[in-house]
Parts: sequence; C-alpha cells; structure tokens
Amino acid sequence: MVSPHFDLILRGGRVIDPAIGHDSIADIGIRAGRIAALEPQLPADAGAEVLDVSGKLVTGGMIDTHAHIYQHVTGRFGLNADICGVRAGVSTLVDQGGPSLMTLPGFRHYVAEQSHSRVLCFLSAYLVGGLEGHYYPQLYGPEDVDVKRTIEIGLQNRDMVKGIKAHAEIGGKSRWGMEVIKKARDIARGIEVPLYIHLGQLWPENEKGVVDPDSVIEELLPIMQPGDILAHPFTRHPGGFISTKTGEVHPIIQAGLDRGLRVDVGHGSHFSFEMAHKVIQAGIFPYTLGADMHGYNTHVGEAGNDSKEDNPFFGKVRFCLTHAMTELRALGMSVPDIIATVTSNPAEMLGIKGETGGLTPGHVADIAVLDLLKGRFELGDNSGNKEIASEAFFPVFSLREGKRFDVDSPVVVEPMRAAG
Ligand SMILES: [Zn+2]
Repeated sequence: MVSPHFDLILRGGRVIDPAIGHDSIADIGIRAGRIAALEPQLPADAGAEVLDVSGKLVTGGMIDTHAHIYQHVTGRFGLNADICGVRAGVSTLVDQGGPSLMTLPGFRHYVAEQSHSRVLCFLSAYLVGGLEGHYYPQLYGPEDVDVKRTIEIGLQNRDMVKGIKAHAEIGGKSRWGMEVIKKARDIARGIEVPLYIHLGQLWPENEKGVVDPDSVIEELLPIMQPGDILAHPFTRHPGGFISTKTGEVHPIIQAGLDRGLRVDVGHGSHFSFEMAHKVIQAGIFPYTLGADMHGYNTHVGEAGNDSKEDNPFFGKVRFCLTHAMTELRALGMSVPDIIATVTSNPAEMLGIKGETGGLTPGHVADIAVLDLLKGRFELGDNSGNKEIASEAFFPVFSLREGKRFDVDSPVVVEPMRAAG
C-alpha cells in the first residue's frame, strides 16, 4: 500500500477563497499543518484521514478583527480567547486595545502562548490599555499616552502588534479635543501599522460638552491615512458615520474611503440595523467584520453579574462572529463578499496574507468549515429592530495549523428560525 500523501483531506465542500476568486466544489489536502493541495478532486486513498464536508462551506481560517480576550487583566471585560476563537470556528483573534505598552508581556505570556487560537493585537495607545472596557475616562487623556515608549514596545513585538487602537468620540473630544488621536496616530506611524479608531459615544461629555457631534469625524479624518480603519460604522451611538444634523451618512466618510480608509464593523451591542441600512444604501460596505464580543455584551464572561447595566456597551441581544455574518447577508452582501470580510481582507489588513486567511497551497492549514442554512432566520438588535435573513452561517469546526477543533463554544449563537 502506498503511504498517504496527505494527513487530511477535506472532501467535496464548497470552497470559497475570495482572494483568488475561487468558489466551487473542491477537495483540500493538508500536510504537516499546511495546505498542500486545492484540487477539484483528490484521490480518496491519498489521505490518512478523509472528512466528507459536502454541503458545507470551506473557507480560509476566519479572523475576528475585534476581540477582547485579555482575560483576568482587563477587569470584567476580557473573555477567554479560545471560546471566541477555535471553539467558535475562528482561527485568529485580534485583541482591540486590551494590552498596552505596560501589559503586553502579560498578554503574550498568559493569553497568546496559552491559546490554541492565533492571537494578535492592536496595541492600546494608552498606558493602561483597555481596562474595564475603557470605563474610566480619566485614564485615557493625552497625559496617559507615551508615544516614544509605545513605539519602542510595538517595534519589539511586531510579530504580535498589527495596529494601534484609540477612540474618537464625543466624551473624549469634550475633554481633550483631538490631542489623544494625534498621539495615537504618531504611534501608528512610528511602528508603520494601521490606526484603528473607535467611533460612537463611549464616555459622558464633560461640562463643556461638544456642540456638534459631527465635528468628531470632521476633525478625525484629516488625521488618518490610507490603510487606517474606521470602526463601528453601524453604531447607534452618536458621533459615528451618521450625521446628527442630517440623519444620513456624513459625506466626509465616502471622501475618506476614496483615499484608502477602511471600515471594520466591530459589531458589539451598539450594532443597529437602522444605521446599517443607511450606511449600505449609501454604497459603503465593510472591509472587515470583527465581532467585538466582551464581558458586558455576552453572557459568558466574568461580568455575569448585575453591574452590567451601568456600562454603555451592555446589550441583551446575543451575537457572535458567524451571527454577524448572517446579519451582513440580511443586509444584502453576497456570501463570497461576507467570507472576504473574515478571511482575505483581514489577512491583508494585518499583513499576514499568504500565511493565513486563504486556501492556496503554502498557507497554514487554518480553515473554517461552516453550514450555510437556508430558510427564514430572525435577527434583532438592541434598538428593537427586527430583520429576516434567508441564509444563516453556522460554524461546524475549525482547523488551526491542521488540528481540528469542534465548535462547542458558549458564545456561538444558533440561528433562530422565524415562525410561519
Ligand atoms: Zn471593542
């Protein structure tokens, strides 16, 4: 008997890799933790193990661009990495602003090195990082940023640090203008990574207030450069894409995208179908998705206590990355375009294209196998909007470096079939 050519063959799935325009039934051969073949059909005896995935979607390993997984250190905020990662069908997690120049070594040691999921981060621009989900504004002013030292730490940890995280919102602007954002920009430029900006009110305004919420985005965009990322386009909180003056998408957004800015959904509890429809009707589509699950907007963290309600990001409606993909389907995006927001696009954004997020030979065998269910699925947001999707994504298993992880995470939301 000839010894098998592959450790594992995934047989007969609908293989989608938007980076190469691939969308057809095919087999994938995996050897030594890497993708070794993508062919219409591989001989069955070529695999030591053969998994029949017919009827399923097979995509590059999914990447959640907006995770909060600095568990035990960011207070009630951080979740366990693998329940957001491989156990939810997701191969790679990008913590958004949890670790800082002071706490990155702990993040590497206690989170990244302990997780089966690939763990990366957008380093916090602030000294303390995202403690309690940035609950205390006094920790996040311009004096709480050390540009020089954060650049040094970022450069020393380029394998893990893929961007810089900061917030442009009404409460901060009322206190400090745009000074913090400019410092965060200087850090990102010093490390040569993208700047990721949270939009939508996070902190209460101080006594001076901000007269015009639109001024946040108007003053922010000139500070950003191509490749930088605007997050939370669909937020129901003021100061985002939707102008408070007109109720429509601020025209400055399209101008920013035209010169190369990008959009990450950063779903969270503030996701609003009403806002999402407005943004998408204006012809603006997200480049990456990002679930933005954390201890206040899921039921699985240490915050499972009655103090949630005092957090602006508390939310009752459950969601996860694949649930957010179903919402994009309800909003009219195509299946391959949605797959791109969690595979090839984030891989490109993170500078790890060719390594993960794709299915061509040579890539690490980070792979997602998903169900694409048909029917009528009920969706809702925390503003009370309802929506019906005709297709729903649901993760079946993931491979991380060729190792299989079944989906058993408590964060994963089962698609809910609509009555009638
Ligand atoms: Zn977040």
